[in-house]
This record gives sequence, C-alpha cells and structure tokens, in this order.
Amino acid sequence: MKHKYLKDVTTLEYNEDKCIGCGMCTTVCPHMVFDIVENKAHIINKDQCMECGACAMNCPEEAITVNAGTGCATAIIMSWFTGEEPTCGCSDTSVCC
Ligand code: SF4
Ligand code: SF4
Repeated sequence: MKHKYLKDVTTLEYNEDKCIGCGMCTTVCPHMVFDIVENKAHIINKDQCMECGACAMNCPEEAITVNAGTGCATAIIMSWFTGEEPTCGCSDTSVCC
C-alpha cells in the first residue's frame, strides 16, 4: 500500500501485555499494520489502519481495540459495494469522504 490515511487519527489501540504472538492480526490485516517480532505483535504502520476491525475481531486475547464501522474509510468501502457516493455524515454536505 502506498497511501496513508491522516496521521495519528486512527482509533487503533494495542495491549502488548495480552498478546500471545499468534500472528492472527498480521494474517487478517489488509494494510500490514502489524508485524510479529520476538513472539509479540508490533504496530509498524499505524497510519495505514483503515479501522476495518478485522484484527480486533480475530485476536483471541482481545489485545486490540478499534472503533470499526465508522468514519470515512468505512463509507468509501461501502460505496464500492453500493456504487453510490460515499457519505459518513462527518460533514454538513451529503458527500464528504
Ligand atoms: S491476534 Fe492478538 S494475540 Fe495474536 S498476535 Fe495479534 S495481538 Fe497478539
Ligand atoms: S483495523 Fe483493519 S486495517 Fe486497522 S490494523 Fe486492524 S485489520 Fe489492519
């Protein structure tokens, strides 16, 4: 991935103490946000997180939290499926993403 989203805006949080190093987050993340180093996950590309929620949903230890399903990234993805203009309601205009 060459693009990045806005710096330091993702809601992604990770608790290393809970991590067992299973690697599931690296498997499911579409943007390679995580890597496994010495049996622990590490966030290596935080600003590429699109808040899809796959990592948090699949982490067996609940070591990851993220506010998924909100914001412009989700609206854009939904627009790919619906073919309609993206809108997430974050601005006064009907099209904001
Ligand atoms: S899925 Fe959870 S437990 Fe597994 S490596 Fe990632 S953060 Fe650690
Ligand atoms: S929320 Fe999605 S994009 Fe962000 S780190 Fe998790 S799997 Fe990757």
